[in-house]
Amino acid sequence: MKIQMKTPIAEMDGDEMTRVLWAVVKDKLITPFVDLKTEYYDLGLKHRDDTDDKVTVEAAEATKRLGVGVKCATITANAARKPEYNLKQLLPSPNATIRAILDGTVFRKPIAVSCMQPSVATWEKPIAIGRHAYGDVYKAAEMQVPEAGKVELVFSSRGGAETRRVLVADMPGPGIVQGMHNLDESIANFARCCFTYALDETKHTGVPLPVWFATKDTISKIYDGRFKEIFQRVFDTEYKAKCDAAGVTYFYTLIDDAVARVIKGEGGFLWACKNYDGDVMSDMIASACGSLAMMTSVLVSPTGVFEYEAAHGTVQQHYYRYQKGEKVSTNPVALIFAWTGALAKRAELDNLPELAAFAKRLEDATLSTIEAGEMTGDLARLASPKPNKTLDSWQFIDAIAKRL
Ligand code: NAP
Ligand code: MG
Repeated sequence: MKIQMKTPIAEMDGDEMTRVLWAVVKDKLITPFVDLKTEYYDLGLKHRDDTDDKVTVEAAEATKRLGVGVKCATITANAARKPEYNLKQLLPSPNATIRAILDGTVFRKPIAVSCMQPSVATWEKPIAIGRHAYGDVYKAAEMQVPEAGKVELVFSSRGGAETRRVLVADMPGPGIVQGMHNLDESIANFARCCFTYALDETKHTGVPLPVWFATKDTISKIYDGRFKEIFQRVFDTEYKAKCDAAGVTYFYTLIDDAVARVIKGEGGFLWACKNYDGDVMSDMIASACGSLAMMTSVLVSPTGVFEYEAAHGTVQQHYYRYQKGEKVSTNPVALIFAWTGALAKRAELDNLPELAAFAKRLEDATLSTIEAGEMTGDLARLASPKPNKTLDSWQFIDAIAKRL
């Protein structure tokens, strides 16, 4: 008899190669064992366009209502996609829409296997990154200044009062200026998401995941100072007791000190990053760990809603080769882990130990298949020892199914 579920998962299908593999993963690795319950939303580009993106909003709302979502990679439309998919419009990125509705933070963590060594020799445990995805330079106003003159900050309250206070610069000649902002509530919610993720990971792995946060508050005393202050306040007033009980610690340091410690340390912590730091550092961590296909990604809302996905995109070039009839070797590991993450979370919320055990077995089967030398091309290039042969995606999924 198949493993039963109680509440559905919000399932969001996607595009191109990941859409092809999404179906294979479900058919071969999940539905033979689990009586899968999902609310299905087709976030394929054409359907998003046909529904004027209503389907994306409905999927985000379903995720919020059900508490758990799983999402395939999706195309963010650009000019080139308009004729390719015969689109009416260029819709915004579905990930951005979902993130805004859930007010969530994205956490990424490498999936470790023994035959893949990170470029940084001291890293023994994965480093998870949480990126604050609101404001700062990503919502900045910028201006070129053509000649000498004063630049000032002006604040006009909704009530009409004007504060013209801070001189940015008395510029002796032409130059550039930039104004950026953030919101107390967004910073507080970011901190909440980080502690929620750390407590959740700690519960799943049984190993406490410390939280690190870093800014440049010695230089930016008001702006970065506010980030530091709010993070500390959220920890002290809302999470300290829970974190103490779980063994989760909170550590604040300067961003340059954090970077030095990350490179010299052994890993095994959550690095909470301001928006720009997270943009840059998540690419560094991903590259040092080998492949985007070996990276989990989960969107966590401050109220504890979890949406699981792969960190990579739709692997467009592989899809074009697949359409020509080629047996491509696209790595499905991050897609598999999106499903195991969602199933394990559902199991926890609905108290289904059999489902939790299944999610763990599927992860173990996936990792041990790779460790036994059966893997896709992206890993075969980096693995040590080198495998004898490279599998295509279907052979690899079959090899996992056999172990499972
Ligand atoms: P991508 O799909 O991540 O692929 C970039 C390259 O990375 C691939 O050509 C491939 O390199 C390698 N790669 C990524 N995932 C892999 C996997 N699972 N197995 C093996 N190799 C993998 O990024 P992109 O080509 O820049 O973007 C394609 C589309 O995805 C775009 O339309 C973009 O909007 C969308 N996208 C969606 C998301 C999301 O939904 N979360 C995220 C990013 C991008 P080789 O060609 O060298 O093998
Ligand atoms: Mg980046």
